[in-house]
Amino acid sequence: MSDLERLQQELARERAARAQAEARSNEAARDLEQARQELRRNVSAFQDMALRHQQALVRLAGVSIHEAGLSTMRRELTKVAAETLGVERASVWLLSADASELRCEELYEHSHGRYSQGRVLKATEYPRYFAALRLGRAIDGHDAHMDPRTSEFSPAYLGPLGITSMMDAAIRREGAVVGVVCLEHVGERRTWTAAEMEFAGALADQAALALAAIERRQLEKEQASVKSELIRARELALRDELTGLANRRALEKLLAEEVTRALRHGRPLSILMADVDHFKAVNDTYGHPAGDEVLRELARILGQSLRSIDTAARYGGEELLMVLPETPGAEARRVAERIRTTVAEHVFLVEPEGAEPRLSLRVTVSLGIASVPQDADSPERLVEIADRALYDAKRQGRNRLVVADPTHQAIAHDPA
Ligand code: GH3
Ligand code: MG
Ligand code: MG
Repeated sequence: MSDLERLQQELARERAARAQAEARSNEAARDLEQARQELRRNVSAFQDMALRHQQALVRLAGVSIHEAGLSTMRRELTKVAAETLGVERASVWLLSADASELRCEELYEHSHGRYSQGRVLKATEYPRYFAALRLGRAIDGHDAHMDPRTSEFSPAYLGPLGITSMMDAAIRREGAVVGVVCLEHVGERRTWTAAEMEFAGALADQAALALAAIERRQLEKEQASVKSELIRARELALRDELTGLANRRALEKLLAEEVTRALRHGRPLSILMADVDHFKAVNDTYGHPAGDEVLRELARILGQSLRSIDTAARYGGEELLMVLPETPGAEARRVAERIRTTVAEHVFLVEPEGAEPRLSLRVTVSLGIASVPQDADSPERLVEIADRALYDAKRQGRNRLVVADPTHQAIAHDPA
């Protein structure tokens, strides 16, 4: 071979080598460009996904649990979860109080657009799954059939439903698991991304918030009902059961306050002590229940005869006491007289034991009147004076009122 030929061969080799290098470099540049494009796609897909996740969470947060109710909230959550993650099945399960079972509160099946509830999973049948829930925030079963945490479901659950990948996020309240948000993928196995697991965790937090809100509302309701019961009980403790009037306890407190107030401010105050005449005879003739009816009716008449600032109370068996603030003796006498005549003219209808129809009867009352400051300077003394006046009214023939005399010589007022 001549020198020229050798030179030409070498040149050709060099050219080929350069062409090869150029081709490799072009290929590398192409690869690099492809990688760049892929990265750009990934970043944009990631941004899209993050946005979708965010939008889904915002949508869920906008559901008012109190207006929508827990069931609507669960439906919204499972649907949003399935749509956002593109999984076939999304469900919310709640753990029983003894942690022995999970009950499906809502399951959404994406391709059917269908909801269902009620399936129960027992801890004794799926111990590894229950333990995994307790221990971790989320179970990311890329291969649910092989993953030790979810493989217990393989024969009876995953297989028949075609589920390949599972992602479950524990719903926690104050650290303790109370349920789980379960996302089940059908089709080719799926690797869950960190962002998707984060999203599943956020869904579980949303469910926990909803539960807390419902519980808080429930608690508030219970507190309100306990409070109103307490108020009612307190009120009942101050009422006489038969007549609905203030009872002796309430009367004593009120009278002490009113006497103190009247004396301190130099205001008039009177009390009326009333007792049914020959009430024993009413009981003996018509029976005790009929007597009770008369007492109830009497209480009603008193209530109608008094002003709103006055108080009628059941002092004893058939003794009724009325407290009239801002009322001097002369005015109290007019009130007492009105009560006396109203009672005397009233026809009481009673139902004697075993008798039909109702019978009508009449009763009368006697009244004693005492006032502050002229008759007494203490509630006990005031009642004693009124009682003494009442006794005088009885002695003088009943169906009348007696005003206590300042000298404690009671003065009778004969009925007109
Ligand atoms: P007087 O005119 O002297 O008052 O004669 P009275 O028969 O009314 O005598 P007194 O006031 O001493 O009798 C009270 C009676 O009232 C006796 C009791 O059986 C009856 N009584 C007391 N509390 C009740 C009650 O809650 N229901 C009924 N039905 N009767 C009652
Ligand atoms: Mg009596
Ligand atoms: Mg009596």
